[in-house]
Amino acid sequence: MMCFVHESVAGRGLCRACGRALCEECATDDGHGLTCAGPCAEIALRLDALLDSAEAHGRGATGALRQTPGVLAVNGGVYALAGGSFVIGGMIVSDHEPEMAAFATWIEVLGGVFLLAGAASLLLARRLKTATHAD
Ligand SMILES: [Zn+2]
Ligand SMILES: [Zn+2]
Repeated sequence: MMCFVHESVAGRGLCRACGRALCEECATDDGHGLTCAGPCAEIALRLDALLDSAEAHGRGATGALRQTPGVLAVNGGVYALAGGSFVIGGMIVSDHEPEMAAFATWIEVLGGVFLLAGAASLLLARRLKTATHAD
């Protein structure tokens, strides 16, 4: 994995905002993780605030894989709820603050990811439940 700017330099990590590989020189570490310099650093800061509040809602949602179907189902619901509010929040922001349209789109995409994660979690819960019953 090479830095997206310096194609001959090995990447040190991925930007949390855009997901591109960054070398030592290009990466900015804001204490929470790596980002590109510029807009990504700004997005990452806002993202931290959002994730903090999402985490407050779904504490434990990112727990280990040794989850029971019940826990998975609850987490799936929490993810889906968080995803839904991200998507709605993104739409509200893009409606009212056109200059933040890029950020809003990003939040909507993130919300979509959360919704997918929630759906996957719910599906997995169902499958685990079925498997348990089969035993
Ligand atoms: Zn970036
Ligand atoms: Zn670089």
